[in-house]
Amino acid sequence: MTLLKQIARQAALQGEKCAYRSRGGALTYTQLWEKAAALAGFLAGQDSPVLVCGGKEPLMPVCFLACLLAGRPFVPCEADAPPERLAYIREASAAGTILAAAPAPPALAGPCLAEAPEIERLCAQTPPIRELPANPGRDAYILFTSGSTGRPKGVRIPVSALEHFTRWFSGLPGCRDCVEDTTINQARFSFDLSVADLWPAWAAGGTVFALDSTQQADLALLYAALGESGGARLTATPSFLRLCLCDAAFCQELLPRLRCVFLCGETLPARTARQFRERFPGARLLNAYGPTEATCAVCTAEITGEMEPLPVGEVATAASELLILGPEGEPLPEGEPGEIAIAGPSVGRGYIGAAGGGFGCWRGRALYRTGDRGKIAAGRLWYLGRIDRQIKYKGYRIEPGEVEGVLSTWPEVHAAAVLPLRRRGEVLGLAAVVEWAAGPLPPEECARRMRASLPSYMCPRVWQSVSPMPLTSNGKQDLKKLEELLQHE
Ligand code: AMP
Repeated sequence: MTLLKQIARQAALQGEKCAYRSRGGALTYTQLWEKAAALAGFLAGQDSPVLVCGGKEPLMPVCFLACLLAGRPFVPCEADAPPERLAYIREASAAGTILAAAPAPPALAGPCLAEAPEIERLCAQTPPIRELPANPGRDAYILFTSGSTGRPKGVRIPVSALEHFTRWFSGLPGCRDCVEDTTINQARFSFDLSVADLWPAWAAGGTVFALDSTQQADLALLYAALGESGGARLTATPSFLRLCLCDAAFCQELLPRLRCVFLCGETLPARTARQFRERFPGARLLNAYGPTEATCAVCTAEITGEMEPLPVGEVATAASELLILGPEGEPLPEGEPGEIAIAGPSVGRGYIGAAGGGFGCWRGRALYRTGDRGKIAAGRLWYLGRIDRQIKYKGYRIEPGEVEGVLSTWPEVHAAAVLPLRRRGEVLGLAAVVEWAAGPLPPEECARRMRASLPSYMCPRVWQSVSPMPLTSNGKQDLKKLEELLQHE
């Protein structure tokens, strides 16, 4: 059964059961389906992508489902994203319609824009779409992630991959037992971890309880929300779990129904896993691995007993084939470290407007080379770091090249390098090392300009001047020297 047919069936079966709840309000299954079907009636007839902008308002998931029903890819964006980035995403995705569940920033103004009151009117007055779209090869969504060439890149995920992921996820031991229950959603909708929340829950008739950014920034609000969630499953980044664990109040008494935590997106420290298992002896802990390009996650390992380092997946139950490749792209034998590649139905359709970039073909199946180093041993996948400079900070993916790309447009900058600030292996933020054309700009001015172009997690916290920029014998920026320079500061 297709994903849309499953959700239609759940809408009919569950009726008044809550499908989605956030501080912005709640939706029953009947409301979710009826609103989305009507909005799809408005969206149908065109095939350009639809930019869906907002936070955790209940209209957001209505818009996503409406796009899927209308056969148009949705492009999730945060309303508080920097204007330049929003304008870029709008242009790069060639979005023909913009749906804004939260007040739209000026960067999105124009005749294609419908804001919340207008969306509600369309949901109430448009005749619903009658036929479910065919063609599972069409794009379901396009997610923009940090790009090493100085601009975010849009990853195209087809409906077939979304359906494959939903089936795989819903059958995982741990998740299988609670998809019909309440799922706590942490991830922003512009982060692909949220894919693990909405679609498996709705395919099974479960409830999604979404946490917004205000709740996540205030521990008292966060614990209050968790306490009232009734959550049975939590999907989160390890950084978020660590934040929750910082107070003893985060324990089984706060979330008595919690049975499964699905973590993905960055390294899970063994200490965090241990602490969680002590506080929640009745819950299962899954450490999952995967990039946006292969639909959220492709493998998962249950963390039990004393393990260190922690595996990131079981090969036998992976959603697609896991390969370890050598420098020439040749598969390496078990135990040998190399680049992690993924082949099969999880792999997306490439980047918008760009060929290649890690995507390819393997024995007739779609392949994605992740840029991650790893090895397969004893039937498990182990993550060993990055081949390139990509950084994970609080679960967010950052290409230093994108931040450097912004700096290179400033006339005051002669040369710039962006590096992670690390303490005991943990990334604490970014540092920009700049060779100024004349004198340095004041740090407040640097911060102001950065915020206009990049999300806050990508804005450097430390500004360091150098003159001249240290170079290697090949004339490239000497990143090793720059790292040493930062350590001595
Ligand atoms: P994103 O596309 O933002 O989900 O980021 C994908 C990248 O996150 C992967 O290529 C890895 O570098 C990293 N990642 C994902 N899951 C894990 C994990 N379990 N452990 C370590 N790194 C991970």
